Amino acid sequence: MGSTIFEERDRQIHRKGDEPFSMDCDMPSLAGAVSQRACVFCGSRVVLYPIADALHLVHGPIGCAAYTWDIRGALSSGPELHRLSFSTDLQEKDVIFGGEKKLYQALIELINRHSPKGAFVYSTCIVGIIGDDLGAVCRRVSEETGIPVIPVQSEGFKGNKRAGYNAACKALFELVGTGVIDDISPVSINILGDFNLAGEIWIIREYFERMGVQVVANITGDGRIDDIKRSHGASLNVVQCSGSTIDLAIMMERQYGIPFMRVSYFGVEDMAESLYRVANFFSDGDTDIMDRTRELVRNELAQLYPLLEKYRKDLMGKKAAIYVGGAFKAFSLVKAFRLIGMDVALVGSQTGTEEDYRELYDITDPGTIIVDDSNPLELSSFLQEKDVDIFVGGVKERPIAYKLGVGFCDHNHERKEALEGFVGMLNFAREVHSTVMSPVWRFSPRRISQHSSYELSLKAV
Ligand code: SF4
Repeated sequence: MGSTIFEERDRQIHRKGDEPFSMDCDMPSLAGAVSQRACVFCGSRVVLYPIADALHLVHGPIGCAAYTWDIRGALSSGPELHRLSFSTDLQEKDVIFGGEKKLYQALIELINRHSPKGAFVYSTCIVGIIGDDLGAVCRRVSEETGIPVIPVQSEGFKGNKRAGYNAACKALFELVGTGVIDDISPVSINILGDFNLAGEIWIIREYFERMGVQVVANITGDGRIDDIKRSHGASLNVVQCSGSTIDLAIMMERQYGIPFMRVSYFGVEDMAESLYRVANFFSDGDTDIMDRTRELVRNELAQLYPLLEKYRKDLMGKKAAIYVGGAFKAFSLVKAFRLIGMDVALVGSQTGTEEDYRELYDITDPGTIIVDDSNPLELSSFLQEKDVDIFVGGVKERPIAYKLGVGFCDHNHERKEALEGFVGMLNFAREVHSTVMSPVWRFSPRRISQHSSYELSLKAV
């Protein structure tokens, strides 16, 4: 493999060594670099998708909707309207004469047919260009049908995935504060930024219930419109995947005075710490909550550690690479790999901030490559250079790993295995073990670079 790193991106890559930490990030992707990031519309779609009793209508060409059809393994304990992705299928005629009439008719028809509790209408690139007034159409349909119909201002071109998260949070905030909150306990939380992939939110809810904490709304996983409407009655917002939902937590704190805390449910350390921090928050009003939490963690670990040990023996010293959407997950994954004896040689994210990368720098070993907003060529080059045994990422990273004869672990939207909680740590170890130790690698040898591609890079681009 020849040169793979663009000069303009050199400052978005840091190799932990003698140099003091310094990195550029949180900026637009380099044109032509084929970033792994998704567009604004996709960012908003992934946050709102798990609201299962809402109608999700993509106002734009069919291609945008096709990309987001049933994109997550976000499960619902009830309605499954979220799994359908509707589109206004804008054509040339609509682009010339406007798509508002078509949008109005589509909304009325779909609401009559599916009786949703609410509707989200997503703006795409072309809608931003032709200037359809989404807000006006949504207001009219809301008045006529009596349900909330909320525009999501997510024109694909107006930023990166982070701007889509912000558009989704603004849309959600329109619902908050419109429901009844009389029966909510003072020891209560909302769960933000968990998408109930493979049923994970049910694992986490059960932990909180054992601690005696009422969950008012799973805002972004197995979500319901009525729960979100009354989520302003909770005493605390517990925010995972903070990149995607922190804006909502900040808006709720400003408007309703609800504090928030950032947590992670991946790996043993972060899972336990998240529960203890929530317990600590409520410990003044509920003096037994800390004892219940300690007992919960003790029982879970007593079951988990002996089971992890057999995987740890085989995996000791093997190498992993991590490239994920948000950096919060990367922190937990670094710790989780350490727990099963593995070294992390590469870690990066699509949307990390300087604070995030500094934390990654602090928790990784010397020699680790830290990368922001990477692309397939760079990632391929790093995987080969570091000769890793497994690559953890999402759907866009999977083919990179397999083409290089490297094992892959899906830690993103499409996964079908629950990886959160103490039981999730066991599932993760089992999956990593079966992938890394698979006999298939004898028949599909790993491709390793002969030289450090980093040394070869830059000048020759
Ligand atoms: S909104 Fe724009 S960038 Fe996003 S999928 Fe549609 S056309 Fe592509």
